[in-house]
Amino acid sequence: MSRIVHLNGAYLPEQDAKVSIFDRGYVFADGVYEVTAVIDGKLVDYAPHMERLDRSLRELEIAWPCSKDELREVHEELAKRNNVVEGVIYMQVTRGVAERDFAFPKDIPSALMAFTQHKKLLDSPYAASGVKVISIPDIRWKRRDIKSIALLPQCMGKQRAAEAGAFEAWMVEEGHVTEGTSSSAYIVKDGKVITRPLSNAILAGVTRRSLLRLAAEERIEIEERLFTLEEAHAADEAFLTSASTFVMPIVEIDGKSIGSGKPGPIATALRKIYLEAARS
Ligand code: PLP
Repeated sequence: MSRIVHLNGAYLPEQDAKVSIFDRGYVFADGVYEVTAVIDGKLVDYAPHMERLDRSLRELEIAWPCSKDELREVHEELAKRNNVVEGVIYMQVTRGVAERDFAFPKDIPSALMAFTQHKKLLDSPYAASGVKVISIPDIRWKRRDIKSIALLPQCMGKQRAAEAGAFEAWMVEEGHVTEGTSSSAYIVKDGKVITRPLSNAILAGVTRRSLLRLAAEERIEIEERLFTLEEAHAADEAFLTSASTFVMPIVEIDGKSIGSGKPGPIATALRKIYLEAARS
């Protein structure tokens, strides 16, 4: 059975959803996106995802494609129509359709597209075993705080990881880890969780935001500072977070075993704490 997707106000079978070749998302990757998890049929961390979307749109001067209430309805309706109990909703807004020109028109309506993916997020075998990560140079642009659909460096990085039998690639700039290709990066040393502070160099992860709040409530010490790849190799634990992986323990970086080589106690506890909060 084909999925029902959303395109500019309409709910359509996926094969009937067609966009113009002049859409600036297609021609220039001129657009932004969000991915929201669905657990137990409910949206996880929806409000901060929409806050970040609003910021990405403002930074690029792209118009909202509909009202905020309508966008929430799109998410809920798509989950309902596709019977998504566990999975994700992907949505993107592109600047819209215009004659090809680098400079953009300010008066065109933006375009909204959204679809669902069924995924087993909770009982991920990766969470039990922990995952492997490789490191790669960070070759992205300098506005990584904007959740742009221009993702070629991340696709190349993820491909390198996959070919190396790894789950994720951590990107490194001037010796310091920025983040994963689609996740935020953390190490644990002497009981302290260390993660890079927010800036234009990384995306402000929604999962990161919730997790840091929950960790503080649990009195787990957090240090927001830059960390080097060498520190990561020598860490007691490492983990990553994203909307679709939640908290994922890392057991190997660049072929080097991290800590005991098994998911660490702090990463394991944080995954549990995050999931309990997400489901409550
Ligand atoms: N960093 C990058 C580059 C990402 O692409 C993502 C998610 O796609 C994240 C971090 C994690 O963000 P979130 O927790 O909002 O999914």
